[in-house]
Amino acid sequence: MTFSTHNPPLILVADDDKVMRVCLRQAMEQEGYQVVEAVDGENCLALFSKLNPDVVLVDAVMPHMDGFTCCQQIQVLERREGGIQTPILMITGLDDEESVEQAFASGAIDFVTKPIHWAVLRRRVKHLLQQVKLYEQLQDANEELTRLATSDGLTQVANRRRFDQYLQQEWQRMMRDRSPMSLILCDIDFFKLYNDTYGHQDGDDCLKQVAKILDRAAKRSIDLAARYGGEEFAIILPNTDQEGALRVAKVIQTAMTDKAIPHRGSKIKETLSLSMGIATTVPHNIIAPEMLITAADRALYQAKEAGRDRFRVFSIS
Ligand code: GH3
Ligand code: MG
Ligand code: MG
Repeated sequence: MTFSTHNPPLILVADDDKVMRVCLRQAMEQEGYQVVEAVDGENCLALFSKLNPDVVLVDAVMPHMDGFTCCQQIQVLERREGGIQTPILMITGLDDEESVEQAFASGAIDFVTKPIHWAVLRRRVKHLLQQVKLYEQLQDANEELTRLATSDGLTQVANRRRFDQYLQQEWQRMMRDRSPMSLILCDIDFFKLYNDTYGHQDGDDCLKQVAKILDRAAKRSIDLAARYGGEEFAIILPNTDQEGALRVAKVIQTAMTDKAIPHRGSKIKETLSLSMGIATTVPHNIIAPEMLITAADRALYQAKEAGRDRFRVFSIS
């Protein structure tokens, strides 16, 4: 779930005392925030789920469900949904040290005491909102970093590093499931001649188009199309037997035919073609996942030898 603050920020105020709620509302509105009022703990939880506020102000002492329980319940809700934790500021009685301890133990991030020192409250809320904003930016930056670290800069499909990591991960998973997994290695035919004919720039565009075709062919969410290197791509197909892998290879062939990217330099036809090597196995701990790559690579070599623009399935004979 991506979390984003409201504009202006939305503050949820929970207090059973009407006068207090009005005062809190006014203080928050003065700062330009939007305010929603909850009359008790249960009401606060319902509004929290519905509105996803940026900060929650909760009175510690309320009938039915007190502020501490409410605070804990909010966190249960958030854990279920994932995302950033919403800061909760607890309003406790003055000099009530026990309540302060309990507020933190319940997951509140800060507290203010009654009677409220309004300037302090305003500063604290402002500070919490700044923290939320910073955290959001950090999370965005992290997501972007992960994307950059795992995708190929030119084609935007997974890079080799992600391929290696995903192959290991799915190999382990398939081993536990005793389920087959397939790998398709794809290599563009006469790509050196494509560059020689049209130039490196067009070569790059061509790689992008092929990557898009492969990414579409790997249509289940667990399938992964990756740039394996240069003009070679790989598709990891977990929970897929040989028949399933052949189906994917045929989809790719049809898509390549439909796309009909001109390739004057090709020695076998007028348009760009791919050769593919397919290997399937039920992962087992006595074999390494690299074996699947070796097998698919051998099949790819056979496809090239047999005239290119075709696929071959690895077989031992
Ligand atoms: P084959 O049918 O046997 O696969 O022949 P090929 O020409 O495709 O194979 P070869 O391995 O001889 O050449 C691969 C070419 O791919 C050479 C290289 O210039 C080109 N290539 C690799 N990476 C890139 C890239 O990022 N951009 C471009 N434009 N070309 C690339
Ligand atoms: Mg090659
Ligand atoms: Mg090639």
